[in-house]
Amino acid sequence: MRVELLCTGDELVTGLITDTNSTYLEARLFDLGVKVERVVTVGDVRPHITQALREAASRADVVVVSGGLGPTADDFTLECAAEAAGVSFGEDARVLDWLRERYAARGMALNPGALRMARIPHGAEPVRNPQGSAPLVILTLGRCRLFFLPGVPREFKALLDGEVLPRLRTWLEAEPGRTYRAFRLLRTVGIYESELDQAVMPLAPSHPRVVFGFRTHAPENHLKLMAEAPSQAEADAALAAVEAECRRLLGAHVFGADANEYAPVLLGLLGRVGATLATAESCTGGLIAQQLTAVSGASSVFIGGAVVYSEKMKSAWVGVPAEVLERHTAVSRETAIAMAEGVRAACGTTFGLSVTGYAGPGGGTPEDPVGTVYCALAGAGMTTRCDRMTFSGDRDRVRLFAASHTLEMLRQHLLAAPATP
Ligand code: ATP
Ligand code: MG
Repeated sequence: MRVELLCTGDELVTGLITDTNSTYLEARLFDLGVKVERVVTVGDVRPHITQALREAASRADVVVVSGGLGPTADDFTLECAAEAAGVSFGEDARVLDWLRERYAARGMALNPGALRMARIPHGAEPVRNPQGSAPLVILTLGRCRLFFLPGVPREFKALLDGEVLPRLRTWLEAEPGRTYRAFRLLRTVGIYESELDQAVMPLAPSHPRVVFGFRTHAPENHLKLMAEAPSQAEADAALAAVEAECRRLLGAHVFGADANEYAPVLLGLLGRVGATLATAESCTGGLIAQQLTAVSGASSVFIGGAVVYSEKMKSAWVGVPAEVLERHTAVSRETAIAMAEGVRAACGTTFGLSVTGYAGPGGGTPEDPVGTVYCALAGAGMTTRCDRMTFSGDRDRVRLFAASHTLEMLRQHLLAAPATP
């Protein structure tokens, strides 16, 4: 099945917004084993949209079109579609009913702008939009099926997942001699992309049905495995075999698979053993707390964190002794250890994590240049551990990797001694 995307909107070609609809659709289609053949972006210019629709429909089996279905004067994608298909353009009674209902439910009268959304190409099929006013419109042009979706990402996703992808899945299943695919995304941390490649690529010759893909998503590296076979059972078996070998080679670097993200995985490990955590952050300025609190329900495990950016706050909030700061400076093993132990004591948690370092671009010393970070883990019944790390890159990158390594110290500890608390 050949699939193309057409994104419309001046905001996409004038640097105002990033086209996230395309990436979302591409990822969802790839999960179905379909690689999008072409993505075309055009501004709000009628002849350009009409021409782009004709061209895409002449090449592809399916064209997904995003944007320009709304009530404003710059929304004319469906008019262009009618012109490209050589059909008339007019009000559709079904869409008009949906709009009436939707507006009535909000106590609003239908205005001329809203009425524009009831107009679709003759012969097209409208599908109700659960998240908004403009419907999904399906139009056949030659042997190509075109799906017109609103540009608003929330509506685009809802209609894509709820209406478009199920149809494509059915068509794919009916294709003769089709290839079946199985996927696994292994998420790793603490290993460079090149090391990941070196570790797993020797497996490739003995797994001819599997395609290996690598993606950096700093501070993580992801390994995407796709197995292809003439039946689903064979694809699943090929995937299971290669996944087991990859996991064996990568060990604890793999923190999760598919949609399992880092922070929920770590919170889950803590929750499983009834442990709690508090953090004291200096150079990361709350990045660790931000990541943990992005997970709903984190409070049962993550008690809280202090951003102790100045020396004063390192002493006042997490009890780093003034002599330690004076003697060893704020960026030192001793300070990191005192911060982790101090925040743990102050919050009464199972674990305390801390991080202090030179994120740059200014600062640093000859012994501890910019990029040097001290990360510490304190816990019940263990000697406080401190890692001195050196990260390259700009301020954002140093902070990102510092936060990641600090959390990783805790995850590795939990994996090695899961029954600690
Ligand atoms: P509306 O009813 O809001 O007018 P529409 O179908 O006409 O919806 P647009 O007007 O093109 O769509 O875009 C609506 C909103 O969605 C805008 O805020 C726009 O920035 C955003 N948007 C449009 N296309 C994309 C895209 N490809 N990726 C991300 N956001 C997009
Ligand atoms: Mg619009």
